[in-house]
Amino acid sequence: MAETITLEPDLGFIKDVSKLGGGDLKKCYQCATCSVACKISPDNKPFPRKEMIAASWGLKDRLIADYDVWLCHNCGDCTTLCPRGAKPGDVMGAIRAYAVKAYSKPAFLADWVNDPSKIPLLLAIPAILFIVVGFIFNAVFGHAFHTTFLNFSPPNAIISHANFIHTTLVDVIMIPAFFFAIGVFAFGLKNFLNDMHQQAIITGKAENKPLEMGGFIQALIRTIPTILLHKKFNECGENKDRATAHLLVLFSFIGLFIVTNIFFVAMYVFQEHGPYSQMNPVKWLANISGVALIVGSFLLIQKRRDKTDQYSAYKDWYLLGLVFLLGVTGMGSELTRLAGWAGVSYGVYFIHLLLIFSLFAYTPFSKLAHLVYRTVAMTYAEYTNRK
Ligand code: SF4
Ligand code: SF4
Repeated sequence: MAETITLEPDLGFIKDVSKLGGGDLKKCYQCATCSVACKISPDNKPFPRKEMIAASWGLKDRLIADYDVWLCHNCGDCTTLCPRGAKPGDVMGAIRAYAVKAYSKPAFLADWVNDPSKIPLLLAIPAILFIVVGFIFNAVFGHAFHTTFLNFSPPNAIISHANFIHTTLVDVIMIPAFFFAIGVFAFGLKNFLNDMHQQAIITGKAENKPLEMGGFIQALIRTIPTILLHKKFNECGENKDRATAHLLVLFSFIGLFIVTNIFFVAMYVFQEHGPYSQMNPVKWLANISGVALIVGSFLLIQKRRDKTDQYSAYKDWYLLGLVFLLGVTGMGSELTRLAGWAGVSYGVYFIHLLLIFSLFAYTPFSKLAHLVYRTVAMTYAEYTNRK
C-alpha cells in the first residue's frame, strides 16, 4: 500500500523567508535552470529547484533540516540565469538565515540581532557589564590587589589599555561571553544534526540507522581542508573572486585567535604583561591579521555593493559592518596608543571591546553562525557520501 505523506505548510515561514531576502520566491515556475546552472549541486536530487518549490509551499521543517541549503555557497550563478528573476541564490540564503534563527536559543536574542533598531541595546549590554562589574571589582578586590580594574583617569605617562580597563576585568566579561556562544551553538547544532539526519532518512539520502559519531568525526577531518581552502567558492562562476576576500577574513580570525591565546598564556602563566614590543613575532602576527581583517572585510563590502542583482539583507550588512569595525578599532586603538593620543586610544579601545563582546555573544544568532552550521552540514554531506 502506498505510504501517505502529510505536508504541513507554515505560512509564516513564507513571509519570513521573503523578509530575509527571498521576496521573489513566488516567481519560480520550476524550469530547473538553476539546478543545471549550479556547479556544486549533486546530480542526484540537485538543488536549488526543489528548495524553491518547498519554500513556496511553506515546508519549514523540511527546509531548516535540509543540508543541501548549506551546500549552496551563495555564488549567484543560478540567480543570474533564472529566466523568471526568482533569485534562487537569495532564497537559499534566506532559508539559511531562518534556520540559524530557528536553532539558536534564546529566540528573543535572535530577534534582537536581526533587528537594526536593537543595535544600541546590544551594545549597551557589554557597556553596562564593564561599568557595573568594574565598579564592583574596584570596591571588592581593588584594595586587596592594589589595582584599579576600571580607571576613568588612567596615568598618561605610559599609555596602556590595561591601565584603563584591567585585563582581568576584560577576561571576566569575555570568557563567559565566549562560553555562552559555545553553549548556544552546542544546543542548536545538536538539534540541527538530529533533524538533518531524520530528514535525510525520510528523503532517502541516508540509511535508516543512528548517526555514527566516529564516522562523522572522520568526515569532519576530510571536510576541513575543503573549507579552509574555500574549494567550493572556487567552483562558482559569478562570485568567484569573493573567495580571496573571504580567505583574508577567515585567516585573520584564525591569526587573532592564536595571538589571543598566546598572550593569555604569557600573562597568566609567565606573568608577562603588555603592551608587548612591536618586535615581538606574536605582535607581527596580530598586526598582519588586523590589516588582513580590514582589507578582507572592505573588499567584501565593496563586492556586495557592486552586486546590485543580489539582495543584501540587514544580516549581511550587520556582519560585514561588525567585522570591518572590529579591524578598524583594533588597529585604531593600537596606532593611537603608539601616537601618544591617550584619550582617543582609550575611547577606541572601549568600542573595540564592545564589538569583541558582540562577536562572541551574538555570533550564534548572526550570519557568522553560517561558518559553523555550514561546516556541520558539509560534514554530514561527506558522511552520507553526497557528491
Ligand atoms: S528559480 Fe528560476 S531557474 Fe530555478 S526553477 Fe525557478 S524559475 Fe527556474
Ligand atoms: S547560489 Fe550558487 S551555489 Fe547556491 S544554488 Fe545558486 S548556483 Fe548553486
